[in-house]
Amino acid sequence: MSQSPKINLVNAVAILTKSGLPGADWVINPYNGCLFGCMYCYAAQIARWKHPDEKWGTYLDVKINASEVLKKDLERLAKKEGTRDFGEIFFSSVTDPYVGLEAKYKITRQCLETLRDFGYEGNISIQTKSPLVIRDIDILKQLKKVIVGFTITALDDEVSQFLEVNAPTISSRLIALEKLHKAGINTYVFVGPLLPHVIKNKDSLAKLLDKLESVGVKEVWFEHINLSTKIKNRLYEYLEKKNSKLIEKFEIANTQEYRDELDKIITEVMKDRKLRLGLGQVIHHKKLKRRQ
Ligand code: SF4
Repeated sequence: MSQSPKINLVNAVAILTKSGLPGADWVINPYNGCLFGCMYCYAAQIARWKHPDEKWGTYLDVKINASEVLKKDLERLAKKEGTRDFGEIFFSSVTDPYVGLEAKYKITRQCLETLRDFGYEGNISIQTKSPLVIRDIDILKQLKKVIVGFTITALDDEVSQFLEVNAPTISSRLIALEKLHKAGINTYVFVGPLLPHVIKNKDSLAKLLDKLESVGVKEVWFEHINLSTKIKNRLYEYLEKKNSKLIEKFEIANTQEYRDELDKIITEVMKDRKLRLGLGQVIHHKKLKRRQ
C-alpha cells in the first residue's frame, strides 16, 4: 500500500447485528473497513457510507468497545429469547476479523472471549484471509460450536495477490488451515468469488480441491462473482490499468450461460469427493439475463 492507512478508534453502539447473508443469522464486525483492499470486495460499497470520500483499503475503524457492547447484546437477547443459542453468528461481513491490526488491538479475540464467557451455545463461524486466526486457537477450542473458514480463490500467491492486493498469501492460508485442522478445529474454504481467469475448467477446479483436501478441509463453499455496477466500476478501473484483457473474461463470467456451465463443472468435480458443499449449492447474488 503506498499511503499509510488511516486508523480511527471508535465506539460502537451495537455489535451483534441481524445478518442478510446466506447461512448466518447474526454478524459481528469488530472493524469497519478492511486494509486487505481486495479489488472484487462487495463490502467496499456497503461499509463506506461512513467514509464516502476515502478509498477502500486505506482506512480502518477499530471498534474499541466491541466486546463490552457484545456482552450487553448477548445478555439482552438471552433474556428476550430465553436461550443462549440465537442461531449462527458470523465474523464478519464488512471487514476481515483478522485484518493485520487485529494483532495489536485484539478486538476479535476479545469478542470471542466474550462469547466463550457467556457460554454461547449456537454456531460461530469465522471467515478470514489471515493466518492470524491461529493465534486464537486456545479460545476457539473453548467455544462450543465453531468453524473457521478461509477464503481461497486461487492456489498461486501471485495470481491471488493480483486482486487480493494486501491480503496474506495463499500459501500462508493453507498452512493455517492445516494447523487448525491438526488442533481439532472444524474448517471450511470459501471459493468466492469464482474468478474466471483462475477456475477455467474441471482440471483447474480439481487441482484446487485436491489441495484443500490435502490440508484437511471437509467443507467448501462456492460463490459466483457479484458484478453489481459499483463492484464492476472499481474492479474494471483496476483491470483497465493492470491487465485489460481480463475484462472480457469477467464480462463473460457475468452471464447466466457461464454460471450454468460452471455449476455443472462444480457438480461433476465434487461428485466423488468427501467434501461437503456449503448450503448445498453455489451462491449467486441475483439471476442474470441470458444472452440474446
Ligand atoms: S478481505 Fe474481505 S472484507 Fe477485506 S477487502 Fe478482501 S473481500 Fe473485502
